[in-house]
Amino acid sequence: MKPKPRTVIIEQLSGINCKDLGNKRGSYTIDLSLRLPQIVCAKISRGCVAFHHRSLHRNTPGDIQSFQLKPIKSGFGYRYVFICNCNTAVQSLYYHAGRLCCRWCIPHALYASQTSSKRQRQVLQISRIESLLGDKRYSTYRRVRERLERKLGAKVMLAKALRG
Ligand SMILES: [Zn+2]
Repeated sequence: MKPKPRTVIIEQLSGINCKDLGNKRGSYTIDLSLRLPQIVCAKISRGCVAFHHRSLHRNTPGDIQSFQLKPIKSGFGYRYVFICNCNTAVQSLYYHAGRLCCRWCIPHALYASQTSSKRQRQVLQISRIESLLGDKRYSTYRRVRERLERKLGAKVMLAKALRG
């Protein structure tokens, strides 16, 4: 039997919203390392944004990915969207498989609300708790962590029971 493709939950990917890039006028550089540790900075210039990826090896520069920024008239002014390499206008780009792209470029990508089966919801809850446990900020709160670990234990047991 073929293994089922693994669903990617969009909310769990790190991403960048076009709104996070400032006013998009003129030329400037934005530090995104807190939001996206894999990206050193974003350089905005002439209606384009260039994301500078962190270098993977010493002495070799990291990749640069460029996207056009398209103004869309809305209400009192303009809002901007990215034009992905697949030519789709999107508000957010996501980091997946070492690069930034839109949700349509990620195979098997779904919003959490689109994963409907009981089994999938279980998996989603487990990975949510797991990502909380992995979060540095939570490691300082021992009691929260312990409670989450207990909850995680129960969920994993339940998921295994459902599976088998
Ligand atoms: Zn795309």
